[in-house]
Amino acid sequence: MTPAWDEHILETIYQEGGRKITEFEIEKSERDREIIDFAQSAADRMLAAYGRQKTAPVPLENIHLLRDGGTRAYLSKIKAVSGAAAPIQQSLMVDRVESDMQLSLITFHELLHLKSYIALQVMPANESNQAAVRPYRYGLTVYARDGKTRCLNSLEEAVIGYLTQEFYTNIQKEPRFENEIKRIAEGNLHIEISRNEEYENLSRMIETIVKTHPELTSKELLEMFIKAQVTGNIMAVTRLIEETFGKGSTRGY
Ligand SMILES: [Zn+2]
Repeated sequence: MTPAWDEHILETIYQEGGRKITEFEIEKSERDREIIDFAQSAADRMLAAYGRQKTAPVPLENIHLLRDGGTRAYLSKIKAVSGAAAPIQQSLMVDRVESDMQLSLITFHELLHLKSYIALQVMPANESNQAAVRPYRYGLTVYARDGKTRCLNSLEEAVIGYLTQEFYTNIQKEPRFENEIKRIAEGNLHIEISRNEEYENLSRMIETIVKTHPELTSKELLEMFIKAQVTGNIMAVTRLIEETFGKGSTRGY
């Protein structure tokens, strides 16, 4: 892409992504903004630790805070939980759940979707549609050239789920969440980290690959998957998947 075209896309992205979701969006309090900033710094640090070289800050107005239940109501067709990301618009929505810690975890998760490797493709105009910018790659997820079919998407969720768990472990002594940490210990607050199912699938896949590639450890493999998600270099992991599960098998994930 020429720089001018690139700039034009980015401009549109930021304008679109900053538009308010009127029906469900709420004003961010000072505390909300603090938690969002905290999650964003943590996401940047985590991505840098796994080799992502530059991460552009997602502007605060592109992070839409919705009343609790708003994400599900807004995205009625999608099995959404409490947050969702739109990488092309560089925007995300997150429900103002009761727990501050939970809010930081959902924001962190969605930011990892936005800030991992992204490549776009321009879909040519046809009789029914104008030319449009569509994703080609998000992290581990690969889109076919029709812009619809996706591969490896569940592995992307697995990796992000794992990193969100790691973030949760890192904030167990975080002073800003002191009260909630106490409530969790007393059994009065339950924190949820989504995508456990996808992570279990990834772990099983890793165990199978290790059997056919004894030169690699599970830990090394997990790190390969994380780096692939973060940097976009997926060749090594897709090769291992195809070698282990057969040609074309990446389409099954
Ligand atoms: Zn996700």
